[in-house]
Amino acid sequence: MLDRLDLGIGMTSRRTRERLIRRLGAAGIRSPEVLATMRDLPRHLFVDEALASRAYEDSALPIGYGQTISQPYTVALMTQALLEPGRPDTVLEIGTGSGFQTAVLASLVRRVYSVERVRELLERAQRRLRTLQTRNIRFRHADGNLGWSEYAPYAGILVTAAPPGVPRMLAEQLAPGGVMVVPIGGQTRQMLLRLTRVEGGFEQEVLEPVSFVPLLTGVR
Ligand code: SAH
Repeated sequence: MLDRLDLGIGMTSRRTRERLIRRLGAAGIRSPEVLATMRDLPRHLFVDEALASRAYEDSALPIGYGQTISQPYTVALMTQALLEPGRPDTVLEIGTGSGFQTAVLASLVRRVYSVERVRELLERAQRRLRTLQTRNIRFRHADGNLGWSEYAPYAGILVTAAPPGVPRMLAEQLAPGGVMVVPIGGQTRQMLLRLTRVEGGFEQEVLEPVSFVPLLTGVR
């Protein structure tokens, strides 16, 4: 019975995955490697079984603890923005959540460091990524506002929850020439920014409006 159920989801997802990838392309995602990665990753394994049939819709879905797995378009947009200037070797991700964005990054860069403040979410994400036999990710249960100084500096930093301004410690952990993609703004609407570390400061590009959950402080 379980086998058949899995097969059922698998068969639906092949068709619906292709449809999602076409949608992402139509919405302006141009990077072939980002599109190929999103096509290959089983997003249905990153949500509750009850929501698996909706995993290839282009929408955010609840993952518990008041958090959401990001909309596929947003994951693709952020990944593309991070990789466009040149593929980073190491990436620090703040807000592991379901682990889906983590998995996308892990298949595109050499090593990913991912920080999450909700222990239960982190443990679930770790289990999923172990199932997928991903070996180039290190996880940490901590407040991402502080970054992860042990492995700094990072060539790329991607923040998947929204702070009101760029957290200073994160900015300091970006390597020279490195790129940070971060949503900055209020509780529900933000602007996605791309910051590049240049001599003496940061260059800032405003990408597009997005909607993330807030970057909180402390752990739970
Ligand atoms: N990329 C994830 C997004 C999850 S939502 C996905 O697609 O599944 C944002 C995540 O950021 C939540 O899991 C939330 O718990 C986490 N978060 C919020 N504030 C944080 C902080 N200060 N440090 C680390 N993680 C944080």
